[in-house]
Amino acid sequence: MARKTKPSKFGELIALIIIGAVVHVIYGHLLPTVSWALIALAVFMLWISFFMPTYCDYRTQRNRPCRWRVRGKLRGCGIHARDKRDALWRACRLKNPGTLFRVMWASPDDPPPARPGAGTPNTSLQPAATQQGARDAAVFYCTLVSTVAGVISAIVGVLALTN
Ligand SMILES: [Zn+2]
Repeated sequence: MARKTKPSKFGELIALIIIGAVVHVIYGHLLPTVSWALIALAVFMLWISFFMPTYCDYRTQRNRPCRWRVRGKLRGCGIHARDKRDALWRACRLKNPGTLFRVMWASPDDPPPARPGAGTPNTSLQPAATQQGARDAAVFYCTLVSTVAGVISAIVGVLALTN
């Protein structure tokens, strides 16, 4: 009887390597080795960013990493996906353009807005997730660079073949 196990990143990585090896054996002659290396790097970084079984790791209000399981270092759990995206934009020194379309609705429990000249209350609720965002941004940049390099090298290889 098959037992349902949690997805293992090592199992998936080995499967990925086996699939890559089979593809390389069949189509290896079509592209130069450098192109294959760049494509492999691109696939590997995409897997880490969006498919690898891992944890959300968004810093919660208790200053602990979120322990919900997600797929991909750049993705957040159901609760934190949005905050993690915002943190990623912040780490790139940008503002999530999606916030332009966000409307924050007031709750009856909210304190009344401060009157001008009454001083600023020291109740900053900014999520302190810059560190997490910076690490995610590094993964994001690596993914982007390696994917672009892989795609360009594949196109160059195919063009060189057809000429
Ligand atoms: Zn989370």
